[in-house]
Amino acid sequence: MTKDEWYKQLFERLDKSKFRSSFHLKQKDIDYINEKGLAVIRQHAKDFIAKREAPAYIANDGKQTPMRGHPVFIAQHATATCCRECIRKWHKMQPGKELSQVQQDYLVDVIMTWIQKEMERQEHKI
Ligand SMILES: [Zn+2]
Repeated sequence: MTKDEWYKQLFERLDKSKFRSSFHLKQKDIDYINEKGLAVIRQHAKDFIAKREAPAYIANDGKQTPMRGHPVFIAQHATATCCRECIRKWHKMQPGKELSQVQQDYLVDVIMTWIQKEMERQEHKI
């Protein structure tokens, strides 16, 4: 499967999940993204993934990602990159093992792809 095919399939599956597709950015999240710029938001996503998802052992796994407070948190729930169990199930990454830089970059990319889609969706609503 190519990267494009995988992404297409992944986002179709996420769209079909009632839980995942219930997450959307709020106006204040969009304002925050516009204020900071996408490059800064990507950096935040990298930090969250490195600190909260990448370690082999996470004490509060399943509870490390708040439901609000940062657009990346919302994106993590929407893309099933919120905890190692969801990452295992949706992104086929083994738990109990530190995530490689390639795996972390992929998760950040999935998050940023969702955020960009969501920004476009909001623009078209106006
Ligand atoms: Zn999760």
